Amino acid sequence: MILKMDRLPIELPTPKNPSPNSAAAVQELLGGKFGEMSTLMNYTYQSFNFRGRKKLRPFYDLICSIAGEEYGHIEVVSYTINLLLSGVTKRGIDPTVTPLANGTDARNTRHFIASGQTALPMDSQGDFWTGGNVFSSGNLKLDLLHNFFLECGARGNKMRVYEMVEDRTAREMVGYLLVRGGIHIVAYAKALEKLTGVDVTKLLPIPDLSNDAFPEAKKHMQNKVHLKLYTFSQEDYKQAGLIWTGTHPEDGQPLEFIQGSPEGFPAPDLDEEPQLNAPGADEIDPEMFADIAKKLGVKF
Ligand code: MN
Ligand code: MN
Repeated sequence: MILKMDRLPIELPTPKNPSPNSAAAVQELLGGKFGEMSTLMNYTYQSFNFRGRKKLRPFYDLICSIAGEEYGHIEVVSYTINLLLSGVTKRGIDPTVTPLANGTDARNTRHFIASGQTALPMDSQGDFWTGGNVFSSGNLKLDLLHNFFLECGARGNKMRVYEMVEDRTAREMVGYLLVRGGIHIVAYAKALEKLTGVDVTKLLPIPDLSNDAFPEAKKHMQNKVHLKLYTFSQEDYKQAGLIWTGTHPEDGQPLEFIQGSPEGFPAPDLDEEPQLNAPGADEIDPEMFADIAKKLGVKF
Protein backbone atom coordinates (compact mmCIF):
# COMPACT_ATOMS: atom_id res chain seq x y z
CA MET A 1 0.00 0.00 0.00
CA ILE A 2 1.10 3.56 -0.44
CA LEU A 3 0.89 6.53 1.94
CA LYS A 4 0.87 9.92 0.19
CA MET A 5 2.12 13.36 1.14
CA ASP A 6 1.10 16.63 -0.52
CA ARG A 7 4.76 17.62 -0.88
CA LEU A 8 7.45 17.78 -3.55
CA PRO A 9 11.05 16.75 -2.93
CA ILE A 10 12.34 20.25 -3.79
CA GLU A 11 11.01 23.80 -3.87
CA LEU A 12 10.38 24.62 -7.54
CA PRO A 13 10.94 28.26 -8.56
CA THR A 14 8.50 29.97 -10.94
CA PRO A 15 9.89 29.98 -14.51
CA LYS A 16 11.55 33.13 -15.81
CA ASN A 17 10.79 32.03 -19.36
CA PRO A 18 7.66 29.88 -19.52
CA SER A 19 7.76 28.08 -22.86
CA PRO A 20 5.61 25.33 -24.38
CA ASN A 21 8.58 24.04 -26.37
CA SER A 22 10.72 23.79 -23.25
CA ALA A 23 7.82 21.94 -21.61
CA ALA A 24 7.68 19.60 -24.61
CA ALA A 25 11.40 18.79 -24.21
CA VAL A 26 10.96 18.14 -20.47
CA GLN A 27 8.21 15.61 -21.30
CA GLU A 28 10.99 13.17 -22.26
CA LEU A 29 12.01 13.03 -18.58
CA LEU A 30 8.44 12.12 -17.63
CA GLY A 31 7.09 9.75 -20.28
CA GLY A 32 10.15 8.87 -22.37
CA LYS A 33 11.64 5.37 -22.46
CA PHE A 34 14.16 6.50 -19.82
CA GLY A 35 11.77 8.87 -18.02
CA GLU A 36 10.46 8.81 -14.46
CA MET A 37 7.31 6.86 -15.38
CA SER A 38 9.58 4.10 -16.64
CA THR A 39 11.74 3.99 -13.51
CA LEU A 40 8.64 4.12 -11.27
CA MET A 41 6.82 1.34 -13.09
CA ASN A 42 9.91 -0.86 -13.59
CA TYR A 43 10.73 -0.96 -9.87
CA THR A 44 7.07 -1.13 -8.86
CA TYR A 45 6.39 -4.22 -10.98
CA GLN A 46 9.71 -5.82 -10.08
CA SER A 47 8.79 -5.41 -6.41
CA PHE A 48 5.29 -6.90 -6.83
CA ASN A 49 6.78 -9.79 -8.80
CA PHE A 50 9.80 -10.52 -6.57
CA ARG A 51 10.12 -14.26 -5.78
CA GLY A 52 12.17 -15.83 -3.00
CA ARG A 53 12.09 -12.92 -0.54
CA LYS A 54 13.16 -15.07 2.41
CA LYS A 55 16.55 -15.56 0.78
CA LEU A 56 16.92 -12.21 -0.97
CA ARG A 57 15.05 -9.70 1.25
CA PRO A 58 17.69 -6.92 1.08
CA PHE A 59 17.38 -6.75 -2.73
CA TYR A 60 13.59 -6.69 -2.50
CA ASP A 61 13.70 -3.92 0.12
CA LEU A 62 16.10 -1.88 -2.04
CA ILE A 63 13.89 -2.07 -5.15
CA CYS A 64 10.82 -1.15 -3.04
CA SER A 65 12.59 1.85 -1.48
CA ILE A 66 13.70 3.22 -4.84
CA ALA A 67 10.25 2.64 -6.35
CA GLY A 68 8.83 4.81 -3.55
CA GLU A 69 11.21 7.62 -4.39
CA GLU A 70 10.35 7.53 -8.10
CA TYR A 71 6.76 8.52 -7.35
CA GLY A 72 8.00 11.89 -6.10
CA HIS A 73 10.09 12.18 -9.26
CA ILE A 74 7.10 11.86 -11.60
CA GLU A 75 5.48 14.58 -9.50
CA VAL A 76 8.38 17.01 -9.67
CA VAL A 77 8.83 16.55 -13.44
CA SER A 78 5.08 17.01 -14.00
CA TYR A 79 5.04 20.21 -11.95
CA THR A 80 8.00 21.52 -13.94
CA ILE A 81 6.04 20.96 -17.16
CA ASN A 82 2.94 22.57 -15.61
CA LEU A 83 4.87 25.67 -14.52
CA LEU A 84 6.57 26.00 -17.92
CA LEU A 85 3.10 25.93 -19.52
CA SER A 86 1.39 28.36 -17.12
CA GLY A 87 0.55 31.72 -18.65
CA VAL A 88 1.82 30.91 -22.16
CA THR A 89 -1.52 31.72 -23.81
CA LYS A 90 -3.77 34.77 -23.52
CA ARG A 91 -5.81 34.58 -20.30
CA GLY A 92 -9.52 35.39 -20.51
CA ILE A 93 -12.89 33.94 -21.43
CA ASP A 94 -13.44 35.49 -24.89
CA PRO A 95 -12.85 32.74 -27.48
CA THR A 96 -13.03 35.13 -30.46
CA VAL A 97 -9.65 36.66 -29.71
CA THR A 98 -8.01 33.28 -30.49
CA PRO A 99 -6.44 33.06 -27.04
CA LEU A 100 -4.76 29.71 -27.79
CA ALA A 101 -3.12 30.91 -31.01
CA ASN A 102 0.36 30.22 -29.55
CA GLY A 103 -0.59 26.56 -29.28
CA THR A 104 -0.48 26.08 -33.04
CA ASP A 105 3.24 26.88 -33.09
CA ALA A 106 4.02 24.71 -30.06
CA ARG A 107 5.62 21.35 -30.71
CA ASN A 108 3.09 19.57 -28.53
CA THR A 109 -0.39 20.83 -29.43
CA ARG A 110 -1.93 18.31 -27.02
CA HIS A 111 -0.80 20.46 -24.10
CA PHE A 112 -3.48 22.93 -25.24
CA ILE A 113 -6.16 20.62 -26.65
CA ALA A 114 -6.01 17.49 -24.49
CA SER A 115 -4.93 19.05 -21.19
CA GLY A 116 -5.23 22.30 -19.27
CA GLN A 117 -1.71 23.36 -20.32
CA THR A 118 -0.36 20.58 -18.15
CA ALA A 119 1.74 17.42 -18.26
CA LEU A 120 0.65 14.30 -20.12
CA PRO A 121 2.09 10.77 -19.85
CA MET A 122 4.10 11.07 -23.06
CA ASP A 123 7.61 11.73 -24.30
CA SER A 124 9.14 14.78 -25.99
CA GLN A 125 7.77 13.68 -29.38
CA GLY A 126 4.22 13.33 -28.06
CA ASP A 127 4.29 9.52 -28.05
CA PHE A 128 2.36 8.15 -25.08
CA TRP A 129 4.28 6.21 -22.43
CA THR A 130 3.75 2.48 -22.71
CA GLY A 131 3.97 -0.53 -20.41
CA GLY A 132 6.35 -1.96 -23.01
CA ASN A 133 8.98 0.15 -21.22
CA VAL A 134 8.70 -2.12 -18.16
CA PHE A 135 11.28 -4.90 -17.80
CA SER A 136 10.45 -7.42 -15.10
CA SER A 137 12.09 -10.69 -16.09
CA GLY A 138 11.96 -12.27 -12.65
CA ASN A 139 15.70 -12.99 -12.81
CA LEU A 140 17.29 -10.83 -10.12
CA LYS A 141 20.68 -10.41 -11.78
CA LEU A 142 19.09 -9.46 -15.08
CA ASP A 143 16.59 -7.07 -13.47
CA LEU A 144 19.32 -5.31 -11.45
CA LEU A 145 21.53 -5.04 -14.53
CA HIS A 146 18.59 -3.56 -16.42
CA ASN A 147 17.91 -1.08 -13.61
CA PHE A 148 21.54 0.03 -13.61
CA PHE A 149 21.36 0.57 -17.37
CA LEU A 150 17.98 2.35 -17.08
CA GLU A 151 19.33 4.81 -14.49
CA CYS A 152 22.44 5.52 -16.61
CA GLY A 153 20.26 6.10 -19.68
CA ALA A 154 18.03 8.38 -17.61
CA ARG A 155 21.10 10.31 -16.47
CA GLY A 156 22.17 10.86 -20.09
CA ASN A 157 18.71 12.12 -21.06
CA LYS A 158 18.60 14.51 -18.09
CA MET A 159 21.93 16.03 -19.07
CA ARG A 160 20.72 16.64 -22.63
CA VAL A 161 17.46 18.23 -21.52
CA TYR A 162 19.52 20.49 -19.22
CA GLU A 163 21.55 21.48 -22.29
CA MET A 164 18.34 22.28 -24.20
CA VAL A 165 16.39 24.22 -21.57
CA GLU A 166 17.92 27.19 -19.78
CA ASP A 167 14.96 28.10 -17.59
CA ARG A 168 15.66 27.88 -13.84
CA THR A 169 12.61 25.74 -13.03
CA ALA A 170 13.74 22.98 -15.40
CA ARG A 171 17.35 23.24 -14.25
CA GLU A 172 16.46 23.04 -10.55
CA MET A 173 14.48 19.89 -11.26
CA VAL A 174 17.16 18.32 -13.47
CA GLY A 175 19.94 19.22 -11.00
CA TYR A 176 18.11 17.50 -8.16
CA LEU A 177 17.20 14.43 -10.20
CA LEU A 178 20.78 14.04 -11.46
CA VAL A 179 21.84 13.72 -7.84
CA ARG A 180 19.01 11.38 -6.80
CA GLY A 181 19.36 9.29 -9.98
CA GLY A 182 23.07 9.10 -9.15
CA ILE A 183 22.09 7.45 -5.85
CA HIS A 184 20.03 4.87 -7.70
CA ILE A 185 22.91 4.14 -10.09
CA VAL A 186 25.26 3.52 -7.15
CA ALA A 187 22.58 1.52 -5.29
CA TYR A 188 22.03 -0.88 -8.20
CA ALA A 189 25.82 -1.12 -8.72
CA LYS A 190 26.25 -2.06 -5.06
CA ALA A 191 23.40 -4.56 -5.30
CA LEU A 192 25.09 -6.22 -8.29
CA GLU A 193 28.38 -6.28 -6.37
CA LYS A 194 26.71 -7.94 -3.34
CA LEU A 195 25.05 -10.47 -5.65
CA THR A 196 28.00 -11.30 -7.93
CA GLY A 197 31.22 -9.86 -6.50
CA VAL A 198 31.71 -7.68 -9.61
CA ASP A 199 32.67 -4.06 -8.85
CA VAL A 200 30.23 -2.30 -11.16
CA THR A 201 31.04 1.12 -9.65
CA LYS A 202 34.28 1.07 -11.68
CA LEU A 203 32.15 1.90 -14.73
CA LEU A 204 30.97 5.20 -13.21
CA PRO A 205 30.18 7.89 -14.06
CA ILE A 206 28.08 7.11 -17.15
CA PRO A 207 28.00 9.42 -19.14
CA ASP A 208 31.52 10.50 -18.13
CA LEU A 209 30.66 14.05 -17.02
CA SER A 210 30.49 14.58 -13.22
CA ASN A 211 27.38 16.02 -11.55
CA ASP A 212 29.67 18.83 -10.36
CA ALA A 213 29.47 20.32 -13.88
CA PHE A 214 25.84 21.27 -13.13
CA PRO A 215 25.57 24.06 -10.51
CA GLU A 216 22.02 23.01 -9.54
CA ALA A 217 23.31 19.48 -8.84
CA LYS A 218 26.54 20.57 -7.18
CA LYS A 219 24.74 22.39 -4.36
CA HIS A 220 22.89 19.19 -3.45
CA MET A 221 26.19 17.26 -3.48
CA GLN A 222 27.60 19.84 -1.06
CA ASN A 223 24.57 19.19 1.18
CA LYS A 224 25.31 15.43 1.04
CA VAL A 225 22.02 14.66 -0.75
CA HIS A 226 23.95 12.16 -2.91
CA LEU A 227 24.77 10.01 0.13
CA LYS A 228 21.27 9.44 1.56
CA LEU A 229 19.10 6.48 0.61
CA TYR A 230 15.53 6.65 1.99
CA THR A 231 13.08 3.78 2.46
CA PHE A 232 10.01 5.97 1.77
CA SER A 233 8.27 3.89 4.42
CA GLN A 234 7.85 4.52 8.14
CA GLU A 235 8.53 0.92 9.21
CA ASP A 236 9.37 -1.30 6.26
CA TYR A 237 12.23 -1.99 3.83
CA LYS A 238 14.91 -1.79 6.54
CA GLN A 239 17.11 -4.42 4.89
CA ALA A 240 17.86 -2.08 1.97
CA GLY A 241 20.39 -0.69 4.45
CA LEU A 242 22.37 -3.95 4.14
CA ILE A 243 23.15 -3.03 0.52
CA TRP A 244 23.53 0.75 0.99
CA THR A 245 26.78 0.47 2.97
CA GLY A 246 30.34 1.74 2.67
CA THR A 247 31.39 4.87 0.83
CA HIS A 248 30.37 6.79 -2.28
CA PRO A 249 32.51 5.68 -5.25
CA GLU A 250 32.97 9.25 -6.54
CA ASP A 251 34.10 11.12 -3.40
CA GLY A 252 34.67 8.42 -0.77
CA GLN A 253 32.19 9.92 1.75
CA PRO A 254 30.26 7.50 4.01
CA LEU A 255 26.79 6.54 2.78
CA GLU A 256 23.74 7.24 4.95
CA PHE A 257 20.64 5.06 5.23
CA ILE A 258 17.46 6.81 6.38
CA GLN A 259 14.16 5.21 7.45
CA GLY A 260 11.37 7.36 6.02
CA SER A 261 11.43 10.15 3.45
CA PRO A 262 12.84 13.65 3.11
CA GLU A 263 10.55 16.32 4.55
CA GLY A 264 9.81 17.93 1.17
CA PHE A 265 8.24 21.25 0.22
CA PRO A 266 4.71 22.38 -0.65
CA ALA A 267 3.71 21.78 -4.28
CA PRO A 268 3.12 24.94 -6.36
CA ASP A 269 -0.51 26.10 -6.54
CA LEU A 270 -1.15 26.34 -10.28
CA ASP A 271 -2.98 29.44 -11.53
CA GLU A 272 -6.26 29.15 -13.40
CA GLU A 273 -6.24 29.28 -17.21
CA PRO A 274 -9.77 30.61 -18.00
CA GLN A 275 -9.30 30.45 -21.80
CA LEU A 276 -9.03 26.65 -21.40
CA ASN A 277 -11.84 26.56 -18.86
CA ALA A 278 -9.29 25.07 -16.48
CA PRO A 279 -10.51 24.42 -13.89
CA GLY A 280 -13.87 26.07 -14.76
CA ALA A 281 -16.44 25.62 -11.97
CA ASP A 282 -16.93 29.39 -11.90
CA GLU A 283 -20.30 29.05 -10.16
CA ILE A 284 -18.93 27.47 -7.00
CA ASP A 285 -19.39 29.50 -3.83
CA PRO A 286 -15.99 29.68 -2.11
CA GLU A 287 -17.77 30.00 1.26
CA MET A 288 -19.59 26.68 0.92
CA PHE A 289 -16.82 24.45 2.29
CA ALA A 290 -15.96 27.04 4.96
CA ASP A 291 -19.57 26.81 6.19
CA ILE A 292 -19.56 23.00 6.17
CA ALA A 293 -16.23 22.94 8.03
CA LYS A 294 -17.63 25.34 10.62
CA LYS A 295 -20.70 23.14 11.16
CA LEU A 296 -18.50 20.05 11.50
CA GLY A 297 -16.16 21.92 13.84
CA VAL A 298 -13.10 21.05 11.71
CA LYS A 299 -10.21 23.25 10.67
CA PHE A 300 -10.43 24.60 7.10
MN1 MN B 1 13.93 9.17 -10.76
MN1 MN C 1 15.94 6.61 -10.26
